[in-house]
Amino acid sequence: MTDLPRIPLAAVIGHPIAHSRSPALHGYWLRRYGIKGHYIPMDVATQDLQQALEIMPKLGFVGANVTLPHKEAVLKLADVITDRAALIGAANTLIFRADGRLHADNTDGAGFIANLRQNAPQWDPTAGPAAVFGAGGAARAVIAALIEVGAPEIRIVNRTRPRAEALRSDFGAKITVVDWVQAPNMLEGASTVVNTTSLGMTGKSEFRVPLDALERTALVTDLVYTPLKTHFLIEAESKGCTVVDGLGMLLHQAVPGFERWFGKRPEVDEATRQAVLSA
Ligand code: NAP
Repeated sequence: MTDLPRIPLAAVIGHPIAHSRSPALHGYWLRRYGIKGHYIPMDVATQDLQQALEIMPKLGFVGANVTLPHKEAVLKLADVITDRAALIGAANTLIFRADGRLHADNTDGAGFIANLRQNAPQWDPTAGPAAVFGAGGAARAVIAALIEVGAPEIRIVNRTRPRAEALRSDFGAKITVVDWVQAPNMLEGASTVVNTTSLGMTGKSEFRVPLDALERTALVTDLVYTPLKTHFLIEAESKGCTVVDGLGMLLHQAVPGFERWFGKRPEVDEATRQAVLSA
């Protein structure tokens, strides 16, 4: 009997995981491109993470996405870590290499930039300072990406100031830390404005910051994508700003993993958005 090729498997690993939209996204691309493969959600508790990563390649998994609370922990278990994942201190994309080594990457920052380039093609990150709300894991990816594309200055405000200070020591002199009570002032002259806090998400408190100092020419984006149009984006749009929602970041960060695991670079377009929104 001839050996049939193994059907490639991939997963998103988190705890909890039932809310993840990644299975709907990858499932859509697999169907769209007629690829024989599967992508599943895997609820893995922290104490089982190492064992899960050891067994998965033996079961036919070629890779995985990683989400909360494992994004930092996987770096300690990986054999090869990309520079950007090391800089961010977290990984979201894993590859189980044929040589048995575990490769860890972080594609959140690239997804963030690709989303803005696709939906606001006139956006110029070098045009002026960026103002970033929040200093959590997502903020680290956003800041690394903004530095890479040439933002001249990045102002950060976070409820817990020491977390923002830590970003300054990790990312250097381009970072200015602003006090939480001074948040509205950091919008002055900013050409890129980003909410990376979880405020504004369905079920959480609203993200309310006075936008009087917001420039009409600023590009404003929110990483929160449930709801798709957050109160923050609605307010910014009413001031005349170009706004971009956070769903595109989720779609774009998934592209490198899918390409690596299934051998096809998937397209992010309106049909992809609708497939995820309607799931
Ligand atoms: P995280 O590491 O837990 O950070 C949460 C951030 O929100 C921190 O800056 C935190 O401030 C702030 N925050 C939470 N509650 C707050 C409150 N009541 N008042 C003021 N600030 C508050 O989470 P994360 O991984 O960075 O994710 C942040 C958000 O981005 C989430 O909504 C996540 O879903 C979203 N996200 C979206 C994408 C995408 O593809 N669109 C990708 C990654 C993340 P403190 O430090 O003071 O706690």
